[in-house]
Amino acid sequence: MTETTRTLKVDFKKCIKAGECYYNHPDLFKATESYYPTIVVSHPSTATEIREAREAAEVCPSGAITFEE
Ligand code: SF4
Repeated sequence: MTETTRTLKVDFKKCIKAGECYYNHPDLFKATESYYPTIVVSHPSTATEIREAREAAEVCPSGAITFEE
């Protein structure tokens, strides 16, 4: 896989605005005024970004975050 094919996504139909993603990984996600996250880094490429993207997908309580590698 090349760097640009790694994709971080949020399914807003599943998101329950728990905030785990932007509290724990502010480099990848930001909170909006509605408390939904926005993705700052859609295509994680550094080792740190990739590790954080995997962690975010694992800990999201609603399963809204996916990281395709
Ligand atoms: S961790 Fe999951 S449920 Fe919580 S705000 Fe982020 S995407 Fe939504």
